[in-house]
Amino acid sequence: VAKIIDGEHYAADLRDQLAVEIAELARQGIRPGLATVMAGEGYAARAYERRLRGLAGKLGCHYVCEALPENVTEADALAAVGKLDADPRVSGVLVLRPLPRQVSEVALYRLLDPVKDIEAVHPVNAGLLTLDRPRYIPSTPASAFHMLDRYLRESGRDPQEVYARSNMVLVGRSNNVGKPAVILGLNRNATVLSCDVHSFKAGLLYSHTAQADILIIAAGMPGLVTGEHVKPGVIAIDVGINPVEEPRTGKVRLVGDLDFATVAAKAEAISPVPGGVGPITDVWLLRNTVAAARAAAGLPGTEPEQRPHRLAG
Ligand code: NAD
Repeated sequence: VAKIIDGEHYAADLRDQLAVEIAELARQGIRPGLATVMAGEGYAARAYERRLRGLAGKLGCHYVCEALPENVTEADALAAVGKLDADPRVSGVLVLRPLPRQVSEVALYRLLDPVKDIEAVHPVNAGLLTLDRPRYIPSTPASAFHMLDRYLRESGRDPQEVYARSNMVLVGRSNNVGKPAVILGLNRNATVLSCDVHSFKAGLLYSHTAQADILIIAAGMPGLVTGEHVKPGVIAIDVGINPVEEPRTGKVRLVGDLDFATVAAKAEAISPVPGGVGPITDVWLLRNTVAAARAAAGLPGTEPEQRPHRLAG
């Protein structure tokens, strides 16, 4: 039976480290600040915003949310981002998705001050990541790889060595999650294969997942990959978060993209949903915010490009 990779436990450790770093900064008069931009009433975005507000408060960071109406014009959304760019209390800015149709995601991303762009969505930061010189590593793929790195080390293996001889298969290739995860896998010298809905429609998905030594799935489809589609001994990281309604009780619960029971029966290790990647993602975003605050304060040796926010530790 698979080992369960405990995201809550890893997140708690990261949170403790971060609290120490934030206390140190406070002694130097520096208070990191996180800002979110949200448009409309999206359920997932609101839940995420509430969690970040709580975590920022707990860690003593400044926090502000620009909550825009669903019918906001693109000009007003751009103005909101511009305001946060100019606000010295704000070290990092997160644009929550989905945005309403009339607002171009890319237009907002391009306007972000790259030093405040803690999700690395600005073209410059996305480019630096591709070149293996990341300014910030986007929080969700960072969390998936933090799990892998730490799990491999704790099970007595050298992660570098494991990656170099692994077939790594990624399912889902969104700009925010799957695509940067591909880059992180390549930068670790894994043999990487990226699948998306086109692979599925072409009937190729499962022949690829069956080859994976390491599988990372971020498709947003509950139970897309089952035990039948993986090989024995796979290490599986489930990024998906899907609300599903229990037919009998009508209660909504969250499940991942893996069919947990059947994959766990064959895997070496698996990350659960909830309690897997999610909790680490929240802390990682604050971690990037702290890195941004250090960079803005010009702390020695912390210019973002000299001090890429690496995953180790
Ligand atoms: P997205 O909708 O932007 O992208 C989904 C990707 O999956 C696309 O590339 C699509 O082609 C692919 N896909 C869809 N159906 C597929 C199929 N049948 N077979 C193969 N590929 C398929 O979503 P996203 O923002 O990348 O998020 C993906 C999932 O991860 C969602 O469930 C989301 O809630 C979750 N998520 C979790 C966290 C976290 O912290 N754990 C963070 C962000 C997103």
